[in-house]
Amino acid sequence: MTQHFIVIGNPINHSKSPKIHQTFAAQTDIDIRYQRQYCPDNEASFVAVVEAFFYGGGVGANVTVPFKQIAFSHCQTQGGLSEHARVAGAVNTLLIKDGAVYGDNTDGQGLVNHIISLGWPLDGARVAIIGAGGAARGVVLPLIEAGIASLTIANRTLSKAQTLVTELSAASQTIERQAIATCTTAELTGEFDLIINATSIGLTGDTLPIADSLNTHYAYDMMYGRALPFLQHFTRRGAQVSDGYGMLINQAALSFERWTGRAVEVAAATIDLQSPLT
Ligand code: NDP
Repeated sequence: MTQHFIVIGNPINHSKSPKIHQTFAAQTDIDIRYQRQYCPDNEASFVAVVEAFFYGGGVGANVTVPFKQIAFSHCQTQGGLSEHARVAGAVNTLLIKDGAVYGDNTDGQGLVNHIISLGWPLDGARVAIIGAGGAARGVVLPLIEAGIASLTIANRTLSKAQTLVTELSAASQTIERQAIATCTTAELTGEFDLIINATSIGLTGDTLPIADSLNTHYAYDMMYGRALPFLQHFTRRGAQVSDGYGMLINQAALSFERWTGRAVEVAAATIDLQSPLT
């Protein structure tokens, strides 16, 4: 029997999720229908779409911009949340559990799984994240669970980085136990093993103010699909670099596993989908 899935967003026409999940379905020999679902940008419409989809027998939904926080609130009041979704304050994966809507967040673990698949060491690593928005919020707990030694969060607006650390420490004892440093992006200096760009600057054409004394072995940009000055800078400095296309594939793989109970071969899917850039 065909299993039904959707990705809910606004805009949604650009989404690669149907293609990614069809690739996983072919790998696992599961018959799926995965569609893009446009939704007006308000909570009532989002809830109506979700309820209609699951009442109609839908198995699972992905949630993308601008609905991840609305999905979180809906699951918090009407159903349940995974630990990663609760701490992230955002949901990217919906399913039905014990008769109620359940929200998970696979973005941060998707990043961690991609970094591990690249062979980049996380255990004991000195890590810096640039950015303090939703994407940064979602990766902190999975990174700490992966065993990093230290974490610095740098952001253009310092107060947002400080607020993020306060909120995350209140939400999770695992995070509270890790002393997280904060600074402005321009003040980020010294030696790191891994620096992650979690800003949306790649959309603007601006470049980050990167101090000359900032060095790293590995640089990761969550953006993908375009030339990224952040990665070009650290390539010139001799670091290994990656864009965020593998994060996209890995978060999708985790959603697929939550829905179907079937693990997928992520590396093969990445080749099939012909990563546009690394
Ligand atoms: P938010 O809007 O929540 O946060 C944006 C962040 O970028 C803030 O920290 C903001 O700083 C910073 N920023 C924006 N413009 C500039 C600028 N000109 N100079 C310096 N800093 C800037 O975005 P998200 O956290 O949701 O997303 C961040 C990125 O992560 C996006 O590019 C998104 O595409 C990507 N992403 C990739 C995923 C993947 O699967 N590969 C999954 C999820 C996200 P300030 O606080 O000062 O405004």
